[in-house]
Amino acid sequence: MTAEIIAVGTELLLGDILNTNAQFLSQELAALGIDVLHQHVIGDNAARVAELVNTAKQRSDLLVFSGGLGPTADDLTKETVAACYGDSLTLDEEELAKIEAFYLRTGRTMPDNNRKQAMVPVKGRKIVNDHGTAPGVWFEDEQGRCAVLLPGPPHELTAMWNEGVRPLLAARTGGTLHSLTLHVLGGESDLETRGGALFQHEDPTAAIYAKVGECHIRITARGENDEDAKARCEAFAQNFYDLYGDAVYDADVPALEYTVVRLLNERGWVMTTAESCTGGLVAERVTNVAGSSEVFRFGFVTYANEAKEKLLGVSAHTLATEGAVSPETAAQMALGALRAADADVAVALTGIAGPGGGTPEKPVGLVWGAAATRDGVWVRKMTLGRRDRDNIRRRASQHALDLVRRLAAGLPAPEDTTAYTIPQVEASRTAPFAR
Ligand code: ATP
Ligand code: MG
Repeated sequence: MTAEIIAVGTELLLGDILNTNAQFLSQELAALGIDVLHQHVIGDNAARVAELVNTAKQRSDLLVFSGGLGPTADDLTKETVAACYGDSLTLDEEELAKIEAFYLRTGRTMPDNNRKQAMVPVKGRKIVNDHGTAPGVWFEDEQGRCAVLLPGPPHELTAMWNEGVRPLLAARTGGTLHSLTLHVLGGESDLETRGGALFQHEDPTAAIYAKVGECHIRITARGENDEDAKARCEAFAQNFYDLYGDAVYDADVPALEYTVVRLLNERGWVMTTAESCTGGLVAERVTNVAGSSEVFRFGFVTYANEAKEKLLGVSAHTLATEGAVSPETAAQMALGALRAADADVAVALTGIAGPGGGTPEKPVGLVWGAAATRDGVWVRKMTLGRRDRDNIRRRASQHALDLVRRLAAGLPAPEDTTAYTIPQVEASRTAPFAR
């Protein structure tokens, strides 16, 4: 089966937004074994859309559209493509009621032009959208050539793809497909090199995607039925667990903080945070998880030295002699937070996020992390490189969450980590750690 991706939107042509939907759709189609022949970007212009569709549908079995399903007059894609596939549109009362209800819930009345969004194919089918107002649509002509239209906002497009489109395509390409995504801490090139032939495997397939401070490995297997595909997927995933060990922190989760909150819950632990260079990012990530109030009550953002002293009891001597960005400060911050919050685990970060403030001894990207429990304190040196500020903060928060994960799960400390006893941390108030 062959496909082309058509991203509609003048914003894309102007360079105002990046075409991430095309990347997502290309990856998804490849995972289904569908060959993507072209990617197009086109403005909201009916004549040009029609011209492109008529050419593309001659050579490709499937056209996947992103965008142009909105309520505005310039969103003409649906009508145009319907005509090219010998279909037309009709008002779907159920969709209209959903859109009206959406406006009512938000205390507004539906503008008349939103009725357009409730128009669905007469011959084709609609793709339900549980995340926005406009349903997607699916057209199919007499030769069995198809077009699927999805809305532009990425969270809507991806959800509708996963729930509505992928299963349809999987059924057409033979059998059913099952996917699972492993979340692995580490850099893409290292993981990919170590994975070697696993990433060349045909069925199941494994594809690696680099994210900030972690990679996702999407495994897809074909099977006679879902149970069979799932079992094949899980068996193949085992290769990655064996290879990467506890660097694989979870499967099919939104992000590391979700795993951390789950593990803390399982253990019955409460965590707290003491953040300097990340300014509350770790706490923000944890509290993003619904149900985190069971495991997190409060944290500290101690940016200035006096805050580290006053709120966390970091010693003035340590700050003066070792500096705020030092293993001693990180360890004392974690221990101080643990005590002040009466928590079971505390994680602290202090570092240089840049772009200024670096020195040869303490360059931008140097971050000290510490995680304290009542049994002791782990101190980890993170060298996050000359990246931009956001990236350094995000990576530091990732390492911090990993420390909490490891403690909560009873896993060993990562490399670059030293374990200290609480008396050793206390002693660091007057003399540095032995190096
Ligand atoms: P809406 O109902 O929101 O108007 P739509 O289907 O008409 O949806 P567009 O108007 O084309 O979609 O895009 C809506 C928003 O979705 C854009 O402002 C942009 O943020 C995002 N978006 C659109 N196309 C893409 C794309 N190809 N890649 C990433 N984001 C996109
Ligand atoms: Mg629009």
